[in-house]
Amino acid sequence: MSVGLTPPRLRNDCFAMPQGVAWVPVDEALTLLRARLHAVTGTEVLAVVQGRGRVLAAPAVAQRSNPPMPNAAVDGYGFAHVATGEGVQRLPLLAGRAAAGQPFEGSVPTGHAIRILTGAILPDGVDTIVLEEDCATDGHVVAFDGPVKRGINTRQAGEDVREGATILPAGRVLTPADMALLSAVGVGKVQVHRRLRVAVLSTGDELQPDPGMKAAPHQIFDANRPMLLALLAGWGFDPIDLGHAPDDAAQIAARLDQGAGSADAILTSGGASAGDEDHVSRLLRERGNVSSWRIAVKPGRPLALAMWNGVPVFGLPGNPVAALVCALVFARPALSLLSGAGWSQPRGFTVPAAFSKRKKAGRREYLRARLTESGEAEVFASEGSGRISGLSWATGLVALPDEACTIAPGDPVQFVPYASFGVSSGE
Ligand code: AMP
Ligand code: MG
Repeated sequence: MSVGLTPPRLRNDCFAMPQGVAWVPVDEALTLLRARLHAVTGTEVLAVVQGRGRVLAAPAVAQRSNPPMPNAAVDGYGFAHVATGEGVQRLPLLAGRAAAGQPFEGSVPTGHAIRILTGAILPDGVDTIVLEEDCATDGHVVAFDGPVKRGINTRQAGEDVREGATILPAGRVLTPADMALLSAVGVGKVQVHRRLRVAVLSTGDELQPDPGMKAAPHQIFDANRPMLLALLAGWGFDPIDLGHAPDDAAQIAARLDQGAGSADAILTSGGASAGDEDHVSRLLRERGNVSSWRIAVKPGRPLALAMWNGVPVFGLPGNPVAALVCALVFARPALSLLSGAGWSQPRGFTVPAAFSKRKKAGRREYLRARLTESGEAEVFASEGSGRISGLSWATGLVALPDEACTIAPGDPVQFVPYASFGVSSGE
């Protein structure tokens, strides 16, 4: 019987920080990414109506003031304020009216009033409007209670936006509201970044890529690729499906070559740890200048960041929960920077916890969470990173600090809604 080989003891806490290994804190990893990446996409000119979700490559400048002319904010009667005073006012009504798109061409003599409708340019001689509901009229005279404030119920030219003003900065991701703003001030075309192309590759011998096919007992369906492709589309990028590669270095390398040839960035999932079958991390170590891959985060410790033929590769963990968390926390701000939209910082807010939890020092932790009716954060029953159902159950993540902490119900915690990561929560 041979002696001398002692099997490593199984550790209860297998997520404990290994000795002698430098784990990069989340914030440090993000700072590194932010410092090393920059916009990589060229630009194109598009009609504003085509621009939703696109990234402005140059500031947008108002070609016209909004409103362009002083106009009526309500339906009512307009006149010169100087001729009015205290008590009941009775002004003779001029024939005709001013309406939106139908200006009154004449001028309104001081002491007279004119019928005016919302959006109509103020006729000459009108600086104040009384609301129709506050007036009585027989068609010849209009009566209302004074005094009224000068300028009331009118809009000044340029009070919203002045011609020549910068209305949206470069890097802005155009929203539906921006479509209104740009159009209102006469901007018909915008210079935007070309959409960022991001390729997605799943790796693993166990994967059956098509959920419509039969899976052998040793197979699982590829859950990450559909998730990542959908995330990318939702972020306004062009997703490129690289399919699935088995745990084979040559095949993974061929797919990465394909990705690097057709995309601006690549997301892989699986094989990113340091195990025997972790071909992605090995390949990236050998050929891809891995810059950082031990990030102190749970879930998702194995995260490989590397360059492949000059294209950044984000080697996400295989566990779908970890893959999503790492995509939201690391890939999204980095891709946003590559796309020209600048670094994106998800905005969380502090809410009372509806749960208890003890956590050790040394790594950031993200829990699948959602808000209760009363605005407290509850977390998914299991922290197991294979529990995909928790991702759909959640509407966001609770971020626990790098330091050790003990959380009791009612304690303040950081809740970051999926929406803050640019992801819909299904509600
Ligand atoms: P790995 O990072 O390759 O060690 O994978 C970690 C775990 O995630 C394993 O249980 C894998 O089977 C699983 N996994 C890897 N890729 C996927 C995928 N695309 N869809 C679902 N599960 C996956
Ligand atoms: Mg694997």
